[in-house]
Amino acid sequence: MCGVVGIISTQKPVAGELYESLIHLQHRGQDAAGMMTYNKRFHEKKGTGYIRDIFDEQNMARLQGKVGIGHTRYPTVGGFSVEEAQPVMTHVPHGIAMAHNGNLVNYNDLVNEVNEQDHRLINSSVDIEVILHIFAHALDHPKTDIKNLSFFDQICQAVDTVFHRASGAYSVIGTIMNKGMVVFRDPHGIRPLVKGVRQNNDGTTDHIFASETTMFYALGFELDGNVAPGEVIYIEENGTVHSRTLKNEQFTPCIFEYVYFARPDSIQNEISVYRSRLRMGQNLAKRWKEQYPDITPDIVIPAPSTANTAALSFANELGVRFSEGLYKNPFIGRTFIMPGQEIRKKSVRYKLVPQEFEIRDKKVLIVDDSIVRGNTSKEIVRMVREFGATKVFFVSACPPVKFPCFYGVDMPTRGELTAAHRSVSEIEEYMGVDILMYQKIDDLVEAVTRKGEHNIDRPCMACLNGQYITGDVDEHTMERMERQRNHERSKQK
Ligand code: SF4
Repeated sequence: MCGVVGIISTQKPVAGELYESLIHLQHRGQDAAGMMTYNKRFHEKKGTGYIRDIFDEQNMARLQGKVGIGHTRYPTVGGFSVEEAQPVMTHVPHGIAMAHNGNLVNYNDLVNEVNEQDHRLINSSVDIEVILHIFAHALDHPKTDIKNLSFFDQICQAVDTVFHRASGAYSVIGTIMNKGMVVFRDPHGIRPLVKGVRQNNDGTTDHIFASETTMFYALGFELDGNVAPGEVIYIEENGTVHSRTLKNEQFTPCIFEYVYFARPDSIQNEISVYRSRLRMGQNLAKRWKEQYPDITPDIVIPAPSTANTAALSFANELGVRFSEGLYKNPFIGRTFIMPGQEIRKKSVRYKLVPQEFEIRDKKVLIVDDSIVRGNTSKEIVRMVREFGATKVFFVSACPPVKFPCFYGVDMPTRGELTAAHRSVSEIEEYMGVDILMYQKIDDLVEAVTRKGEHNIDRPCMACLNGQYITGDVDEHTMERMERQRNHERSKQK
């Protein structure tokens, strides 16, 4: 999972606002980040770690220009070095830079094709470099005579080539030297990509594109909808906007954005993430009352902090006191987002401290956003028991996660997913809880899609139901990709 942002202004340099945007996207990736702007040439700065540690006054001063893109990286494939950081660029044609959020299912095949057929070098293991070279090669070798084509038509041809060759999830923001900004989203719209506008005093308009709306208010941008699935947008340096939808499949955005990844103040695909989480808690509590009418906890505690919202509405619906019984140290990164199982295991106690006065001698119900690997949940249960809970119930706002994600979220192999090889009662026993209850799939979909002027056909839920929207992930492909991911992980240890 990653965060991506692009800003194009007719009036002022964009580096400062890209920096602020990345701060507002930091929750989407803490491994590495980068920024690339241009005036007469490209200027870039990349590094590993937090945004605040990568950029300083000196390197920010170099990032000149009124067009630029930024990226914060959380690797699902590829390495953890600065070489794997985005944006990436190619000199031919024009000079093109790109960054994205997503993951390609047919990455390996495309690398071979790009190397052998297109004679272009892939110099990293990040998917966006493949997309960049497919786009650049297509732009440099147009299918038809360009004499009668506008530059936007040429861009459309190049993006169309990407859509036909690249399978998977990709929300892409790019810049083309001395031309402007190009933006596109895969035909299923799996990963988010919002757009915003800001009016200038001279009547011109600045544009922003980003994974989330989280920086819009701070920077004075207004939400202008989403980049549609299969849509390409080109904005010239003078602010002229061109847009066209090239390919339109079922609109299936990732449901896990609402469950876990997106910041609660985000609006994604016209749906408030915060409100969807409230509805998740509400639906869960209704099920609890149906299934356990005679069991009422004394307090409802969220596993902080993504589950706070669902826990709040769960407690309201049940008429039980909401308690912040687990204090979270805000200066430690999200455990789910840290590479490496051992680090993850160790960091739970370091990060969370149970509040004894809230827990001792009480029947405690813990609400978590999801149970992916199960280690964090197990550790939380153990801590709550150590602090004197008489009963521990655990509910998950997300149904069991049983399948790997090949669209950009770190759920790499079935071997690491607790629900892939355990029944609910086995997970209950593994976690050491008195009752474990999961959200039902239909209740989750209802919670996400109940409100909002959205046009979602059905969200992607491949990690929950094994139905991979791109249609090219069968058992054989899954096993091959799992083997590859295990191999990559073993190299990183
Ligand atoms: Fe999101 Fe799951 Fe689909 Fe991946 S498989 S895109 S995590 S819903």
